[in-house]
Formats: sequence, C-alpha cells, structure tokens
Amino acid sequence: MKYWSEEIETMSRSEIEALQLKRLKTTLARAAHSPFYRELFRKNSINPEDIRSTEDLTYLPFTRKNDLRLSYPRGFLAVKEDEVVRMHASSGTTGQSTVIYHTAHDLNEWTDLVTRSLVVAGAGEKDVFQNMMSYGLFTGGLGLHYGAERLGMMVIPIGGGNTHRQIEFFRDFKTSVIHITPSYALHVSDVIKDMGLGPVDFNLRLMIFGAEPYSEATRDKLEASFRVRAFNCYGLTEMNGPGVAFECRQSEGMHVWEDNYLVEIIDPATGQPAGPGEIGEVVFTTLNREAMPLIRYRTRDLAQLFPETECPCGRNFRRLSRILGRTDDMLIVRGVNVFPSQIEHVLMKLPEVGTNYQIILNRVDNLDRMTIRVEIYGKMFHGEARELRLLRKKIQHELKEQILLSTEIELMEPGALPPSQGKAKRVFDNREI
Ligand code: ADP
Ligand code: ZN
Repeated sequence: MKYWSEEIETMSRSEIEALQLKRLKTTLARAAHSPFYRELFRKNSINPEDIRSTEDLTYLPFTRKNDLRLSYPRGFLAVKEDEVVRMHASSGTTGQSTVIYHTAHDLNEWTDLVTRSLVVAGAGEKDVFQNMMSYGLFTGGLGLHYGAERLGMMVIPIGGGNTHRQIEFFRDFKTSVIHITPSYALHVSDVIKDMGLGPVDFNLRLMIFGAEPYSEATRDKLEASFRVRAFNCYGLTEMNGPGVAFECRQSEGMHVWEDNYLVEIIDPATGQPAGPGEIGEVVFTTLNREAMPLIRYRTRDLAQLFPETECPCGRNFRRLSRILGRTDDMLIVRGVNVFPSQIEHVLMKLPEVGTNYQIILNRVDNLDRMTIRVEIYGKMFHGEARELRLLRKKIQHELKEQILLSTEIELMEPGALPPSQGKAKRVFDNREI
C-alpha cells in the first residue's frame, strides 16, 4: 500500500477527531478576523471559544454561496492582503462566480492533498501526467498541476481542448495519467476512433475524472473504451478545488481528507443532519486554511456519506458516494424530480448509444415536455427507419423505468451535438418560470 503522508493517512478515528477539534478551534478564531464572520458572530452572539466539540459546530449558522457573492470581493478575507499569494474563482456554472484567496501555507497544504490523492489512485513519479482541464481561475488546472509536480510526475500542462493535439501528445510523450472531465473524455474517445487509433497505441494507465457529475455507467463506458481504470476526484473552488475527496483503489466512495475538511450531510430542506447513510447536501468546514476559512459551507452537492469508517486501503477517512447532482440541477418535470445524472446513467448503459446527449425541456399547452437528443453509436447507424424506431422505443422504455416519465427521443448522428471540452452543458430548460 502506498501513502504520501503515511502518518496522517493511517490515523485512527480518535486521532482524526482530536486533530479536527484542534483545527476547528484555530479556524474559528481565524475566521473572526474576516468582516463577514466577525459580523455573523456578533449578530448571533457567538463566541468561538464556546465551541468545545465538533458536534457543537451545528450551533453555528451555515455559510452559503450567496454570502460569498454578497461579500465580493474581500468580505471573507481573514488575513492581511499582502499575505495572500493567489486567488481563484469558481466557474460560475450557476451564477456569478465567487472568489477564494490563498496564503502560501494554504497553497502548500492544498498541493499536498492533491499529491496524496494522486498517490491513492496509484500514480507515481515515473508517470507522465497530461492535465486536460483548463488552466486559469478554474481550479482543475493549477490545482492538479502542482500536486502532480510535487509527486515528481512529468506534467504536460496542455489544458482543455485541441483534441487532435491531445491525442498526439498521448502518443508522442507516452502519457500515462490524464485528468479530464468525463464529458470531454467521451468526446476524446470518439476522436481517437475517428483517427483510427485505439488503446494499444497509447501508454495510458490511469484516468482521473472530476469537475462534473457523471454516472457509474459513464465510467464503465469510458473504462472500456480507454481500457484503463478511472478514479473519481471531487472538489470545489470554495474548498480549494480538486483534492477534497478522492477515490482509493477499492473504488467504493471517495475518502474525504478529514484532517483538512469537516464534512456534514444535511437535509437540504430543513438544514438538519441527515441520518446515517442518507442522501443529503454536503456541507464542509475548512480546517486548515488561513486566508479564507469557511464554516459550514453549503455546497449544494448531493451525496451520501458511508457510515463505516474502515477501508481495506488502510485509511479511516470517511467516504463520500459519487455526487448525484446539485440541488439546483434537479429538474422538476410534471411534478417528478429528476437528476440529469439519472438520465445519463440509463443512456450510457445502452451499447447503441454514443457519447453525447442533451436534455431539452419545453412547455407545450401547459404541460412539460422532455426531449432527449442522443447521439447513437456510429457503427450501428445504418439509417434504417425500422431499426431507429425500435431503438427510440427502447430508450424511451428504459428511461420510463428509471425516471417514471415519458420522453421524446431524437436520435442524432455521431458528432451532431456540440462536444464538451470541459464542464458539459446538457440541460436546456426553455420553460417559462
Ligand atoms: P462551479 O460551482 O461554478 O461549477 P467549481 O469549478 O468550483 O465551480 O465546481 C465545483 C463543482 O463541480 C462541485 O460543487 C460539484 O458540483 C462539481 N464537481 C466537482 N467534482 C465532481 C465530481 N467528482 N463528481 C461530481 N461533481 C463534481
Ligand atoms: Zn480506501
């Protein structure tokens, strides 16, 4: 078993919890230096010194994305401006982006978490790492970059897009590990086929997927197509970025690096803690950040935390399931709640289905109508009407079983839908609110 920081990674539960409490106290004291938390503590008569256990944390209010927006640009800063060495901003998938600051200590710790995560997946210094996530304010680029360098891999900071070149680089530089969004990986797998190439032409050994929700069926499809194992990497800008939770080689959930983050799962409707193993909204408190501590930050991501803490890999950090979607991703169609990832799961299990799809919602005569545009697998596309009609029926049937809704299916030729080169945009909701 390989570890990056063995002492930390093999801590017992009681050691983890003791460290968490110690760091929580420091974090609260630091947070009180920021204008936002100073005011919040004052308004709610909170004295950080009254927090005696990690459970006491539940007495503190949540911090929401909107608080970050309203405090733009510096309301959460807890150190002097000249101690800050970098800022990042979230992609703004769901509105105005938010800004996160880092001191040199923060960047160093984040880098360590990423390095630790890469080692968990089995990467090593002999690997060649092609980082296919965009660089810049988005944390998927620089975040993984520094962690991979610290591990000693050769890093190719190519960023997203330019797919032919990416594939040439796989071959020319014997890339063995890639970091990529699953939606872009689906597109890359198509282009590899179009170029008449296949897994034997490359040296790939590991894929790291992150930055967007995807289904287990998508992972299966991509693992089969690239013939390499894929590992799930979770993070969000507000919690640094990638490296918050990472899958180990057991592939049964992602270990949350609890020495750096305190994780809670709550019922998004009531804010109360979810029961053991229940699905709910993920909430994090930073435990090791100087520039911008965040307390009980509501991620809007939905997942479950596995109750058991022991893992055969030797780590006792609790594991988070795959992210099922965001609370604000959930579609309500004719009163039924649907996550795009449920639809994706059905589609990607079908061998006739290609690598791209869109979900389109319209309101016709006051009724919601859901149309799924889906590319079909090239080799199966003979254009025979009967064949296509049967396939449409099959997809409709499978979806109905899963999401309990009737859908209209439009079959598309491979490559007909715009490919994703980063975070995919797949839902087009044209209904008037
Ligand atoms: P934005 O919130 O604007 O998209 P970020 O770049 O910070 O900005 O994205 C973080 C979000 O991306 C997470 O909150 C989550 O919804 C999604 N995400 C990141 N990694 C994963 C993953 N492995 N699985 C599912 N979703 C993920
Ligand atoms: Zn494990």
